[in-house]
Amino acid sequence: MIKVSFPDGNTNEFKKGTKVIDVAKSISEGLARKVISASYNSEVVELSSKLNEDGDIKLFTWDDDEGKKAFWHSSAHILAQTIKDIYPKSKLTIGPAIENGFYYDVDFGGNNPSENDFKKIEEKFLEFAREDNEFKMRQSSKSDALAYYKKEKNEYKVELIEDLEDGTITFCDHSNFSDLCKGGHIPSTGIVKSVKLLNIAGAYWRGDENNNQLTRVYGISFPKQKMLTEYLELVEKAKERDHRKLGKELDLFTFSQKVGQGLPLWLPKGTELRDRLQRFLEEAQRKAGYKKVISPHIGLKDLYVTSGHFEKYGKNSFQPINTPNENETFLLKPMNCPHHCEIFNSRPMSYKDLPLRLAEFGTVYRYEQSGELHGLSRVRGFTVDDAHIFCTTDQVDSEFKNTIDLVLYVFKSLGFEDFHAQVSLRDDNTPEKYIGLKKNWEISENAIINAAKEKGLSYKIEYGEAAFYGPKLDFMVKDALGRSWQLGTIQVDYNLPERFKLSYKGPKNEDLRPVMIHRAPFGSMERFVAILLEHTGGLFPLWLSTTQIEILVVSENYKNYGQKVLNILENHEIRAHLDDRNETVGKKIRESEINKIPYMIIIGGNEEQNETVSIRKHKEGDLGEMKIDKFLDIFKKEISDSIPEFNIN
Ligand SMILES: [Zn+2]
Ligand SMILES: [Zn+2]
Repeated sequence: MIKVSFPDGNTNEFKKGTKVIDVAKSISEGLARKVISASYNSEVVELSSKLNEDGDIKLFTWDDDEGKKAFWHSSAHILAQTIKDIYPKSKLTIGPAIENGFYYDVDFGGNNPSENDFKKIEEKFLEFAREDNEFKMRQSSKSDALAYYKKEKNEYKVELIEDLEDGTITFCDHSNFSDLCKGGHIPSTGIVKSVKLLNIAGAYWRGDENNNQLTRVYGISFPKQKMLTEYLELVEKAKERDHRKLGKELDLFTFSQKVGQGLPLWLPKGTELRDRLQRFLEEAQRKAGYKKVISPHIGLKDLYVTSGHFEKYGKNSFQPINTPNENETFLLKPMNCPHHCEIFNSRPMSYKDLPLRLAEFGTVYRYEQSGELHGLSRVRGFTVDDAHIFCTTDQVDSEFKNTIDLVLYVFKSLGFEDFHAQVSLRDDNTPEKYIGLKKNWEISENAIINAAKEKGLSYKIEYGEAAFYGPKLDFMVKDALGRSWQLGTIQVDYNLPERFKLSYKGPKNEDLRPVMIHRAPFGSMERFVAILLEHTGGLFPLWLSTTQIEILVVSENYKNYGQKVLNILENHEIRAHLDDRNETVGKKIRESEINKIPYMIIIGGNEEQNETVSIRKHKEGDLGEMKIDKFLDIFKKEISDSIPEFNIN
């Protein structure tokens, strides 16, 4: 008998040689129908694999990332089969699953398919899928594997096999098609019900531009036709909401080749937006007992050698800057943390000074390859809403709770309602990978779990995902299109206090090392604004909008009354703008809609006579004519409903 442990901590005994799928069946037939892949002792296995030793099992469905990965990896096999069928002379190379779908790199020998061929390939693909052939793993000797591909005249696979050790080589067979493969499949091809080829692009063999150029065929597949339709709709919506498109339409930011790629220029409206976000967080941080600091954009190379950042970023980042006379070597600041450590070190500290929370909207610079740059979400210079909390080990618990409160306040105020947390802890089996005392790790890991529990977060624990220098808590936030973003990391650090020899005097005058916590609810202003734009489609929460109300007069005759309304709004600290141009109301409304102004006030003869305003709300349309006091009530309620009270206990 063997002992199989499940993720919920339960264990069960099975006969040696029991198949994974039968373990699933022992739980329930329903689960067995839904399971499409599995892992055993953290290794990917097939559902048909036989279990011969004790171990931890994980069963995955389509709803798990691992399940999707197996699904798309298996789909790549079907794509390869299809390509070999339609293009018999083509040579297959590699075809992995990716975040959304899969691809296969193929040498078509000049007979490259075009988008016009997609339909034909998709139809053949589905024909093969419907045959519902099992995916079966098969061991092969190195010589057999080499012989197989030499016969096929496929020098790419031959090269791959030559790098492998004899005894480790496996193939996956389905129908009469075989491919070199390490495993990790869904049980059979019939589970794949829909497919769409998305794109073809050039790709060099092994990513090396000195090698042959191959054709990369991208596709995506689903277990239901409906899911494909929904996915394609989502892709269309995402294009509409692309932050680079919206940023241009709303005049928020730009890039200049002359300034340099990856270095955003914030336009006046974008700057106002960013300032407002910054003040919003600074105000909450002030209430939560943070102290603001400012540090320079460069620091001596030695500073980053001490912190370890030079080792991490030095060679593969912006190169050092030298002074002409003093022989000093500076680096552009890749992280704010080392500077804050030196602020801590600037005077003797006692336990009475802790927790010390140093906050800075600090701009940092990291080299990214030009191909990696993407609007505001991947840039070379960005501003982190950074803070470092220096505290005692005992304070980690309350500092985590307070930081979670702050992050939740940010999410709530900005309309992110769907999120969960991930707690990343050590892998107990590899203690050598982590620095710091075991006892301290235990205290902070328990503190994080405790804080997550007490704050009512939906969270999952990932063992082995902690950084070498400390455990952390991340938030995974879903945006309006259902895409996940990592935001609001809270990271414990035992490394930098060690490297910077930070210390404080304890109650018995003993020297003690503080714990450091890094946290940034937004992450960076640039990336956050990109996410916020795509989440809201540019229609920001009312409190954040640059122009909250546009006042439109139907003709110049009502300019004066329009001005009067503007004055009233401004007295209530509302950001309004009067559009008294000699244009039609229709045109003015359209422009306000494009600019995503939350409210429009329309003013004509009736309104002037009755001393009222007519209200139009973005997306919702007419709210009718009303006294201005009534409108002010509606307006203020919307703001107070969207931005909760923030108090720290
Ligand atoms: Zn495979
Ligand atoms: Zn930091």
